[in-house]
Amino acid sequence: MQYSLFFIQRFKGKVLFNVPMSEHTSFRIGGPADVMAFPKDEGDLKDLIAFAESKGFPFHVLGAGTNLLVRDGGVRGIVVNICEGFKDISWLEGGKATVGAGVKLIELVNQSRDRGLSGLEFAVSIPGTVGGAVIMNAGAYGGEMKDIVEGVEIIGRKGHKGFIPKSELNFSYRRAELPKGAIVTRAHMRFSEKDAEDIKERMREFREKRKATSAIPFPNAGSIFKNPEGKVAGRLIDEAGLKGERSGGAQVSETHANYIVNTGGAKAKDVLALMALIRDRIYSLKGIVLEPEIKVIGED
Ligand SMILES: Cc1cc2nc3c(=O)[nH]c(=O)nc-3n(C[C@H](O)[C@H](O)[C@H](O)COP(=O)(O)OP(=O)(O)OC[C@H]3O[C@@H](n4cnc5c(N)ncnc54)[C@H](O)[C@@H]3O)c2cc1C
Repeated sequence: MQYSLFFIQRFKGKVLFNVPMSEHTSFRIGGPADVMAFPKDEGDLKDLIAFAESKGFPFHVLGAGTNLLVRDGGVRGIVVNICEGFKDISWLEGGKATVGAGVKLIELVNQSRDRGLSGLEFAVSIPGTVGGAVIMNAGAYGGEMKDIVEGVEIIGRKGHKGFIPKSELNFSYRRAELPKGAIVTRAHMRFSEKDAEDIKERMREFREKRKATSAIPFPNAGSIFKNPEGKVAGRLIDEAGLKGERSGGAQVSETHANYIVNTGGAKAKDVLALMALIRDRIYSLKGIVLEPEIKVIGED
């Protein structure tokens, strides 16, 4: 196996071969990744990237896979899973923190709440990792990651370490810009002090709202499309009569029209067929082009 020697000689973390991506995505969909590597620390990650670059092996970064559709043919090259390393949270003076990219967002939400630090209440129902949330500029209820992120530490594609300040991340709706091939290892954040009871109350409100609008009993990847300027994608899809539409095991959710759910055995091709149907229908009815929010990777 072409990858084996490097992993035997240098790599400290875990390595798996021929890994079904369906086991690493919230959609429970996706063909096999050739290699999944779980770097243990920055040294491991640097070596891994330098190795992949030197051999011309493609690599993809995986957080918790909650915003990801992996095609049925799987992923060639190396999937870098950051969820087992990069789990440190350091609380600093003045409401600041540096947070490992592999930390679960909910863990950070809970720790900040317990310290009477406000800023992440909006994220109480958003799954995934801190790294994924920063890259996606995850948001809800008027809050976004960009409101509290001051910059990110990265390992660049040549294996070098760097810091990208907020001003260069160019945050926009569900997006942050990174140098090509860079991997976020740690985010620098600033919270503001607030009464802990107020923080808890806001979180409770957001949780209740979420329960009312999107308690979905099937695997999914959250909102499929971004909201077009001044419109709500879910409302457009609902008005187009597409709730409940099916392709194979995939279905437009009956509860939240901007979710596609895996009702059992769905393939990526089923989800992609529904996405195409939705885009065509909304374009022909409203002249609006819906842009995917989820990331799609891998081969057919
Ligand atoms: C039930 C449900 C509800 C959701 N609700 C919301 C919501 O309210 N608001 C919202 O914004 N999103 C929501 N999402 C989508 C998703 O949870 C967020 O986008 C989340 O922040 C993705 O994090 P992740 O770790 O799962 O990223 P992944 O899905 O693993 O990756 C997403 C992208 O980020 C890249 N990436 C991940 N980590 C890194 C890193 N360390 N360095 C560089 N690139 C990286 C990946 O390569 C990929 O392109 C929801 C999803 C689900 C399933």
